[in-house]
Amino acid sequence: MSLPIKELLNIGKVQLEESGVMDAAIDAKALYCFMKDMDSKQFLLNWQFEAQDDDCERYFQLIDLRSSGVPLQHITEKQSFMGYEFKVNEKVLIPRQDTETMVEDAIDLIEKGSIRGEAYQEKKNWEVLDLCTGSGAIAISLFKECKNVKKMSASDVSQDALDVARENARNLGAEKVNFLNSDLFDGFKGRLKKSKFDLIISNPPYIRSDVIPTLQREVRDHEPMLALDGGADGLDFYRRIVKEAPEFLKADGILMMEIGYDQGSDLLALMAEDFDQVKCLKDLAGKDRIIIGKLKKRA
Ligand code: GLN
Repeated sequence: MSLPIKELLNIGKVQLEESGVMDAAIDAKALYCFMKDMDSKQFLLNWQFEAQDDDCERYFQLIDLRSSGVPLQHITEKQSFMGYEFKVNEKVLIPRQDTETMVEDAIDLIEKGSIRGEAYQEKKNWEVLDLCTGSGAIAISLFKECKNVKKMSASDVSQDALDVARENARNLGAEKVNFLNSDLFDGFKGRLKKSKFDLIISNPPYIRSDVIPTLQREVRDHEPMLALDGGADGLDFYRRIVKEAPEFLKADGILMMEIGYDQGSDLLALMAEDFDQVKCLKDLAGKDRIIIGKLKKRA
């Protein structure tokens, strides 16, 4: 049996649609390209040909896997973020587009001293910490994109996640990023000379525990709960980070975090005590997505 590639992909797309996959056409093509190790350009040169028997068999196996709810990125083991290709697996959260918005804002902050027209602090040498780094997407992108980053540190409570992050750093030429196994700030405490940072950035777990069962099956059944579950009200990690960050920030240091679309007012309240210029910024969909503030001057 052989099938025109176009026909094969259409069968794949229909099966994905029937099993409730959202971007069926995109995934049907992506799985074919993955199987043949092709990029989109090579696909364009090939799609009018026929697929041979064994390719059809292999393709349908991939389609079956995706139809069962396995995320595309767990099959291909990669996700593009800020134009870089990151390795991902079930040990790390798949980097999201919403998080690119925060990284773009952080790049403006580090390189220009301001975010969306609001001046925070201009300086040439930034020491940055990415808490809950997961695949390392935020830390590695900032390290690659910002000439003003002097030292980039990144931590995660999961050693398995750090293994992925370190591999990404090696693959992307960011070996100088300093990774540390730590439950939030715990690993930074009690050192002879406490580390202090100009910017602490984080995309911590923030989904309310009771919302977890309602998530898409790809997320609920395949992504690490450790990276998603923010406790009963979703704010467990923010409470700890906001409380402890002042100890680890330099004067005028900045805390910047991704938040859930409905957590803006909670975070504005949490940050009010120790931070100035607290702002809630929106993502591309117009929803609250980022909270930022600058450490208050101590009296
Ligand atoms: N934005 C992610 C999601 O909706 C959640 C990320 C997180 O908890 N940090 O799946």
